[in-house]
Amino acid sequence: MHPTDRLQGETPERLSERFGAALTPPEARRIIAHVVQRGGDSLLGVQQLRTTARKAVEAELPIGQVKVLDRQASQEDPFVKFALALPDGAVIETVRIPLERKGRYVVCVSSQVGCAMGCAFCATGTMGLSRNLEAWEIVEQVRLVAAELRASGEGRVHGVVFQGMGEPLHNLDNVLQAIEVMSNPCGLAVDARNITVCTVGIVPGIDRLAGMRTRIRLGISITSAQTALRRSLVPMEGKYPIQEVVEAAKRFHERSGRLVMFAYALMGGVNTTDAEADALAELLKRMPARLSLIDWNPIAGLPYRPPTPEERDRFHDRLAGMGVPVIRRYSGGKDIGAACGQLATESTRKSRPRGAGREPGAPASEAGETSASSDQD
Ligand code: SF4
Repeated sequence: MHPTDRLQGETPERLSERFGAALTPPEARRIIAHVVQRGGDSLLGVQQLRTTARKAVEAELPIGQVKVLDRQASQEDPFVKFALALPDGAVIETVRIPLERKGRYVVCVSSQVGCAMGCAFCATGTMGLSRNLEAWEIVEQVRLVAAELRASGEGRVHGVVFQGMGEPLHNLDNVLQAIEVMSNPCGLAVDARNITVCTVGIVPGIDRLAGMRTRIRLGISITSAQTALRRSLVPMEGKYPIQEVVEAAKRFHERSGRLVMFAYALMGGVNTTDAEADALAELLKRMPARLSLIDWNPIAGLPYRPPTPEERDRFHDRLAGMGVPVIRRYSGGKDIGAACGQLATESTRKSRPRGAGREPGAPASEAGETSASSDQD
């Protein structure tokens, strides 16, 4: 087992398999429920756990520590952004998103420290990639929010969306392991159907998900349906053209039966033209999907702007007129930098040329639609 593994990244089944006869399945379930569900910081609090079993687990799998560095509640809407410190000093951001139904929340999680994709319109893209998150570091983001909601009586975590920092399909092994824990009844018991993995369009990752016949949802950030424009905004377009991404999304839909969510960040005067709407309609025809339009959010130093109401309405109405199932999404938390595309932590920000997207290891919360919006209500 990797030295950075922690108990919060384990399911009872994985634990049983690892420790064999040294740990009974009920003991494994009690340990995970104690640590993941109840946030226990020591195995001494686990009931009906033999001392030999406790010591065996303690010797190999510590309980991971993530600290809340900062908590910012929006003054404009009920969004909350958390800055979390990881054991190596890296800082990531996580956003608590309210759903329309009172008492239900979605947690927007990060999957990497920074992002390698280098999308031109995204704050996270300015950071470069530091490293992948371990499965337990992803689980901890959800657990911390769930614990706060429980303690305050505000509600519960209904779903999770991988739209924070990082491209989840470039850290897919750890993302899938984290999803196993989140959806395990002894873990966080989040229904896998309410977990959405959002990508800028990494075709092999989409195909891997399709082959798994998973119950999770897939989200894809389009940004533009026109090759030249998309390439200038999303460097990965050069490797995985959006037409191939949509074909992969079709395969995912055919094998999983799950509707694919397409997200589109509207940048006024850039990707809100009639030609863009027409290209988008052409791209999505014969593709069972839902398209969410969301305003791009201002980020200091980037040469873009949100759409005007007229641009937004015209773009929406043109798509709807061509039969595209399109909806508008609200992106909250702008005043705390929690809105889509705004996540970036100064402590891990590195100077890096824009547009230098690269593949290995990293990237991002589905393109620019980073956090602060959810298709789950
Ligand atoms: Fe990375 Fe997503 Fe930002 Fe692109 S939009 S740089 S993939 S976080």
